[in-house]
Amino acid sequence: MEKNDFVRSVFDSSSIALITHVNPDGDAIGSSIALKHALEKMGKLVDVYCQDDIPDIFKFLEGVDRIKKADDLTKNYDLAVALDCSDRERMGTCSSVMDRADRSANIDHHVSNTFYANINVVDENASATGEIVFELVGLLDNSTNINMASKAIAVAIYTAIATDTGRFSFSNTSPKTHRIVASLIEWGVDVDRLSNLLFKSHSFEWVKLLGLVINTLEMYRDGKVAIMHISQEMMDKAGAAEEETGGIIQYAKDIYGVELAAVLREIDPSTTKVGLRSESLVDVSALAQEFGGGGHKRAAGYTIELPITQAQVSLMEAIDMHFEE
Ligand code: 5GP
Ligand code: MN
Repeated sequence: MEKNDFVRSVFDSSSIALITHVNPDGDAIGSSIALKHALEKMGKLVDVYCQDDIPDIFKFLEGVDRIKKADDLTKNYDLAVALDCSDRERMGTCSSVMDRADRSANIDHHVSNTFYANINVVDENASATGEIVFELVGLLDNSTNINMASKAIAVAIYTAIATDTGRFSFSNTSPKTHRIVASLIEWGVDVDRLSNLLFKSHSFEWVKLLGLVINTLEMYRDGKVAIMHISQEMMDKAGAAEEETGGIIQYAKDIYGVELAAVLREIDPSTTKVGLRSESLVDVSALAQEFGGGGHKRAAGYTIELPITQAQVSLMEAIDMHFEE
């Protein structure tokens, strides 16, 4: 069992690096911070790495201020653990920390995971990587005399699960998800406070950007496909940061009758990042993988070396193929 292999590997290691993906989201940060706290309770030396800045909205999590950036990549660890990364590339420049470590592990829930580490704890039925971390923390609790039921761990895992399930509303939300969350509340999560911090804390710039992006909405295939775009000009006009593009895609997805929503974000004049959401007909993970990306059946993405208009043409062709299957 991979989970037991992971626990053994933790026991065999004194220095451990945790690495999460570029443009980190709530699951990336929450699952990493939770595992960091658990491993530190065991007396391990733990560093968390992320190539990109931590969005302000997650700064309330205990320990995020100690996450290391890509400019500090010289240490060697006994064990390097990737969290919420479907492939090596998702770690960005921080993948070099895994390359240099003695052993590696990969904790993830993406269907597109490429099993790139020595130990691969991959469960595509988990709603979030945080859900798998909860189980691993339970195993660590059982195999030591350490009580892992701390508020800091609970808050971090709750952040991971609440964000990746869209507040317990997406199809990945399972009975197990709710059972885990029940435990987290028993461990001390204040649901009202966390909901305010995570979901009712938009910046004025995010709302301004939302207004601009909604104006770009186009509908195709009899209202089944909704596409929006975000140009750099819009970002500048709204004064929004990269992290403030998150969540906007849901407004296209939430239109009645929409089966597939896409947001095309201009990274530079010749590079576009595409975010995808699907209701039930199209496997957007498969679609994203055709362009070198990945994700889940219902939420996926990729980056393509094309200007936004050409990226949309190639996306529309792929969407047509998938609808005709
Ligand atoms: P989002 O649209 O929220 O950025 O991403 C939705 C899902 O797709 C996430 O699970 C994320 O991990 C995955 N995803 C987004 N962009 C990429 C990408 O460029 N490569 C891979 N492998 N996965 C991606
Ligand atoms: Mn995730």
